[in-house]
Order: sequence, then C-alpha cells, then structure tokens
Amino acid sequence: MAIYAHPDDADVAAGGLLAQWASEGCAVHLVVVCDGSKGSHVPQVDARSLREVRRAELQQAADFLGASSVTCLEHVDGAVTNDEDLRATLVGLIRQYRPEVVVGPDPTATFFGGVYVNHRDHRETGWALLDAVAPAAAMPLYFPEKGEAHQVRHLLLSGTHEPDVVVDVSQTIDTKVKAVLAHSSQMGGDPEGIRDVVYGRAEQAGRPVGIAFGESFRSVELAF
Ligand SMILES: [Zn+2]
Repeated sequence: MAIYAHPDDADVAAGGLLAQWASEGCAVHLVVVCDGSKGSHVPQVDARSLREVRRAELQQAADFLGASSVTCLEHVDGAVTNDEDLRATLVGLIRQYRPEVVVGPDPTATFFGGVYVNHRDHRETGWALLDAVAPAAAMPLYFPEKGEAHQVRHLLLSGTHEPDVVVDVSQTIDTKVKAVLAHSSQMGGDPEGIRDVVYGRAEQAGRPVGIAFGESFRSVELAF
C-alpha cells in the first residue's frame, strides 16, 4: 500500500518500486489523501476543474503502474492534518487491504539542500501514516469499528534524509516515467525536462550501490 498526499507523489517517489511489485503479481493499493486542487502556479486556474483533471491523471498513472486500487480521500490541498479522523480512515484502509508493506513520505524531512521546504501535506500525511501503522492499525482497541487489527511488517519512507535501502528499478524506470508524465498538469509545459529529472534522480540514487536506476527509502522493519 502506498499512502501519499498528492495525486503525483507516489509516482515521483516510488513509481518504479510500485510498478515492479505490480509486475510480479503483488496487489498494489494506492491511497491519495489530497484532491490536488491547489497544484498550480497559474492564478487563473479553476480549483474545481484542476481537481477533475488531476483525478483523471491519477487514474491513468495508476493504470500504467498496474495498481489494483486507487482511493482518493479528497482532502483539499493544504488542509491535511494528522488528526483522529485521518488516522481512523487510514487505519480502516490498512485493515481492509492488509498490506505487508506501507510506502509513504518521511515526515521528518523538512528542508532539502537549502532550496526546498517539504510541503505541509507531505509531512502531515507522513505523520498520519506512521501513527496509523504503528501502533493503531495493529491494536484492536484503537478504532474497533474499523475492522480486524492488522500488523504492517515493513515501512518504506521516501523523501528521506536517512535512506538505508536502494531498490533497483532498472526494469520499471520507463514505466515510472510514463506514470509521472501522466500528470500533465504538473509538467509546467516541459515534459522533456521532467523526464530528464526522473532519469537523473534514479541514476543518482542507484550510483552508490552500482545499479543503473534506483529509488531510495528509509526502511523500518516493525518488530511484533
Ligand atoms: Zn506532493
């Protein structure tokens, strides 16, 4: 299960890994918390239209990855909070789909290289998924109305300053690029530039471990 804030986040952060798992027959369930309605730098863009466009882009990208399901929680961009309601919803989804692994954003990463502040929605989503996985979903007295308790065994957190796992995505990097490019509204009119960035970041992630294309994560094996 991949839990991310915005419609394009999973593809950018973990599209190669998710496509690899789907190609091997794993069920890949994608959960997107926000509606994407503020994902534009153009002031004239209508939020409602953008939300519809991004919903269609998300479905197309998920089809490229081979995702088994896509769940959109439709929080307005910028308004995600790690509160009881969001945790209850995520616990319900975790207990419904019962994933072995949950992939999502590392909420501890705030600043990147002195040039980027991690989006609040990414951080709030990351904290909510951590709280939902460990311990709420695994303990029956948390949200007892949300189904039978389920222990997620493994967390893989992207956008992290402390990566300790690099996944080889050489087989699926082209699929990842297709999925990222499906989010046309986010390309800024430069899909070729975005393509180069995706390949370049994957080369950079793979280089330290001697693979052509990689995606890096912080790995947490949950003991129970
Ligand atoms: Zn995002």
